[in-house]
Amino acid sequence: MYPFKKIFIDQSVAGLPLTDRVRRAFPSLPVEIISGEPKSDPNLSIAGSKKILYLTAFKGQLIKPCPGTREYICCGYQILNTATNCPFDCSYCILQAYFNQPYIRIFANLEDIFFQLRAYGQEQAGRIIRLGTGEFTDSLAFDPFTHFSVRLAEEIKACPNLVLELKTKSRAVENLLELAKTDRLIISWSLNPEKVIAREERGAAGLNERLDAAAACQEQGFRLGFHFDPIFYFPGWEKEYRDTVDRLFRRIDPERIAWISLGCFRYLPPLAAIIRNRFPRADYIHEEFIPALDGKKRYPQSLRVDMYSRLLEWLAERGAGAMVYLCMENPAVWRKVFGFVPGEGHPSLSEMLDSRTGIKSP
Ligand code: SF4
Repeated sequence: MYPFKKIFIDQSVAGLPLTDRVRRAFPSLPVEIISGEPKSDPNLSIAGSKKILYLTAFKGQLIKPCPGTREYICCGYQILNTATNCPFDCSYCILQAYFNQPYIRIFANLEDIFFQLRAYGQEQAGRIIRLGTGEFTDSLAFDPFTHFSVRLAEEIKACPNLVLELKTKSRAVENLLELAKTDRLIISWSLNPEKVIAREERGAAGLNERLDAAAACQEQGFRLGFHFDPIFYFPGWEKEYRDTVDRLFRRIDPERIAWISLGCFRYLPPLAAIIRNRFPRADYIHEEFIPALDGKKRYPQSLRVDMYSRLLEWLAERGAGAMVYLCMENPAVWRKVFGFVPGEGHPSLSEMLDSRTGIKSP
């Protein structure tokens, strides 16, 4: 399953339990112990970068707010940085534009990481904090060999105000299925029609595999999240997305869903050339886009409103009761799709999501 060819290990994490576990998982891979960053390789491609594991220590601020923009309504999510880069190769992945940080970096100094996490939980006592590890990587892609979710679940139990969302495009839930469930661990899948997954999400699990994994977590008692993000416009999108919604609710009970987000494809301009070069068949990049206030390119507002409204209608038909929200959209789009704007005579989006976490404000 994994394409790895080599492991670099920073000497500061050599011998730590996570490092040993990774070495045991790939006993035939060459290992090089280094001090600091691996030497830069001018011939290293983005695909090549995904074949090299670099075990190192995370230094710096472990938890940061998700980078929102004033003009867009933000969900108040916090990012817990446990790894960067990913073994999957989605054509639209923003990480391709951050190539100044090559290799798959897995932070192995778990004791420091969890010390900071516990301290953060205490500092923020009195607030519900929604945390996620899926911003710079896939939350579960490495879990079969890091078993990180097991340790994270233990730590979260000790921090009563923290809710952790693990976002994935994988089916790697074996470790989670061994855990006693906790309502403060929400397992989420990014969803797209099968034909989008096959064309644009290389290496990731197919739609059925994701739904099988979600159904198994539901059976185990976990609450679930789903993210229709990025949503792509293409001729016939209605049938494909409607079918995806149908398939979701054939397997999943809406009562077990904490939230569903919707977000149309958007991109920072430098990503367009990377997509065209690496994925010449990715024709979605040739659609009409308009510059937005956050510097990204987005579909015209009327198209976004139409796509969100249709999806909302299908989700309400099949999954009544599940909370649906828009990821990083502007107030005008919210008003047209939902008839209200969070925070304007209505709870903020952050408050709406906090109320779905299953915990009372501590
Ligand atoms: S799963 Fe996420 S992090 Fe991994 S390649 Fe796809 S978009 Fe990027």
